[in-house]
Amino acid sequence: MANGDNLEAEINPSEVVASPFESFLNDLHLKYKSLGDGKVATYIPELAKVNPDLFSICAIAVDGRVFEVGDYDRLFTIQSISKVFVYGMALEEHGRDYVLTKVGVEPTGEAFNSIILDERSKRPYNPMVNAGANATTSLIKGAGPTERLNRMLDMFRRYIGHDVFIDISVFMSERTTGHRNWAMAHLMLNFGMIDEKIDEAIDLYFQQCSLMVNCHDLAVMASTLANNGVNPITGERAVDSSYIKDILSVMYTCGMYNFAGEWAYTVGLPAKSGISGGIIVVVPNQIGIAVFSPLLDDRGNSVRGVKVCEELSRNFGLHTFDSGMGSSKFMEMLYRGHIQ
Ligand code: GLN
Repeated sequence: MANGDNLEAEINPSEVVASPFESFLNDLHLKYKSLGDGKVATYIPELAKVNPDLFSICAIAVDGRVFEVGDYDRLFTIQSISKVFVYGMALEEHGRDYVLTKVGVEPTGEAFNSIILDERSKRPYNPMVNAGANATTSLIKGAGPTERLNRMLDMFRRYIGHDVFIDISVFMSERTTGHRNWAMAHLMLNFGMIDEKIDEAIDLYFQQCSLMVNCHDLAVMASTLANNGVNPITGERAVDSSYIKDILSVMYTCGMYNFAGEWAYTVGLPAKSGISGGIIVVVPNQIGIAVFSPLLDDRGNSVRGVKVCEELSRNFGLHTFDSGMGSSKFMEMLYRGHIQ
């Protein structure tokens, strides 16, 4: 290739070969497909029905290039990964200072569903655990439950790039069994952290968790965060760029439940996991990555997902503080080998 100005004209499709990154993803998928460690979540009865063998990896660069392998089009419910995006919505609707009065930014070191509040401030510790997400969800504006739900779905649509739906069976399953979330909401109501309409807020929380996505959708969402809030496929802005650093900071410190510290140490990237087996990872200004595999470790993170992300980070020097290869070189590497 003589220069990059006329890239399209110079690509001869017969000369395009798989990038080393794509081959790496295929190898990772093959390597971990046989790993059967972990258990699927059963505390929400509907989630127990999932096929435990499902496994996919998808990465989408900020220029829209897609790399994916496995069952990347199989639908599942987003669960706690939704917390990232609802936090962004709360920030946009109320501003940083107000949201900080309702939910902190401290990791808990506790399980995601712990019924705890910060002793001094009475706030939930952070928006990435259930208590904090109950609080941020209650901040979504709207005249009534339908308007609030539609506004939330529209926010998700911007990130994903197509119309979105809720899995009613999972929603009902959570609604009838999610007693810890009800307990949390009552505790926060007691301290004035959420308003009276807790039924509405909790329903909206269960609805956001029941949003149906596939691994490709999650990668688009992660890539939108990597791309400063603009969906790299549709070009539509999903969130104000001034809140990206708030969102990524809490993902970095609190996104992997009580594994967040170890994750920051080994993978070193903002991420969020969900109990259905998804993990999203953001490499700012470069790429969004999603892994889906429903077999979970005892902290609720996907076993294969953690392994895949650890290897990706190590192999490509993606750790935020890696002084070796450094993630700034990653884009260069990503395309090496596409054209010969
Ligand atoms: N809906 C789930 C719950 O509230 C979300 C948990 C998760 O993904 N960690 O328990």
